Amino acid sequence: MLPRGISLRPDFLVNLAALSSSYALSHVVKRPLVWGYPISIMIEPISRCNLQCPLCPIGARELKRDLGVMTLENFKRILDNVGRYVKVVALWNQGEPTINDQLPEMIAEATRRGIYSMVSTNGMLLHRRNLIPRLLDAGLGELIFSIDGLTPDSYKIYRIGGELDVVVANMLEFRRQRNARVSKRPKMIMQWLPMKHNQHEIPYLRAKAKAWGADSVEIKTAQIYTDDQAMQYLPDAEELRRYQRVGDRWDTKRRYQSCKRLWFSTMIDWNGNVVPCCFDKDEQYLMGNALTQDFRDIWHGERYNAFRTKLITQGRVEEMCRNCTEGLKSYYIPLDKLEALAPPEIPPVPPENMPKQPDYSDIFDLPVKE
Ligand code: SF4
Repeated sequence: MLPRGISLRPDFLVNLAALSSSYALSHVVKRPLVWGYPISIMIEPISRCNLQCPLCPIGARELKRDLGVMTLENFKRILDNVGRYVKVVALWNQGEPTINDQLPEMIAEATRRGIYSMVSTNGMLLHRRNLIPRLLDAGLGELIFSIDGLTPDSYKIYRIGGELDVVVANMLEFRRQRNARVSKRPKMIMQWLPMKHNQHEIPYLRAKAKAWGADSVEIKTAQIYTDDQAMQYLPDAEELRRYQRVGDRWDTKRRYQSCKRLWFSTMIDWNGNVVPCCFDKDEQYLMGNALTQDFRDIWHGERYNAFRTKLITQGRVEEMCRNCTEGLKSYYIPLDKLEALAPPEIPPVPPENMPKQPDYSDIFDLPVKE
């Protein structure tokens, strides 16, 4: 759960032990006992994106809540409020974090406080605003590049509006500048969503990631919301899907019904709104606001505890919780075997695996609040 190399003071370990024991005991007594504060936090720097990925609520322009940008000042206030036990901050949610020009300063602030930072990006904007040296200077811990196609043609089927050549050039430049500093930080990860139209490229993933400067590849399963999306996007191989068919619905293949995130982490949107996790795209389960309330009151408040109680006593009854990755068994994709069988050139996308192209012609400029 925690990246290597983080210094762990005794009070942090006491908090961790308190969280772990109260999480376990809550499931015995069937009511939420929460004896500690989050050790990781996800903060949304901005809820806007330069791309239009069809399975992403912000990409598909389907997010219903207000859009906006977090300021550096509010970021600091949130860190002050959430507490001294936070050791990891993930800087993304809905939207492309590098659009927020204060992102490097937020990372530097986290570094100053001894917090390990991670950013997930589509990589399209890194060559602008001197971002690469600014991110390197800030002490970023991990940079995740979302790439779901290994050729320009397959890439733009899902990453609508993106250009693979630009992303790859940015990855190579990032790696060059990181090497020039004789540093292995930030770790560069190439993240891949296996989908029907790109599943034939999996055997080439590892070699491409290495050639493009990544330290490793992470395969994350695609999230779908409708049967139509399942038909169009879910890959054929069972092990590449997070879902199993249960009656007339798609359910995740989870090993347990509860949720560790409700004890160990929290999610804060650009405007300070606190929600249980990043799966609550539209703030359906709003717990409070970390800019206007004491976080301790929110964390131990009625709404959070009612939500925890439901998870403990009824399991994943909320639609959002039935569709999330919490409790999934991590799976192993036998890349070695697939690589050995692959022809030398990446084949084109089979026409029968192409999703319908979404029609974004009616998109207008969405209102943005600051
Ligand atoms: S969606 Fe998943 S991570 Fe979020 S609260 Fe529900 S079970 Fe936990």
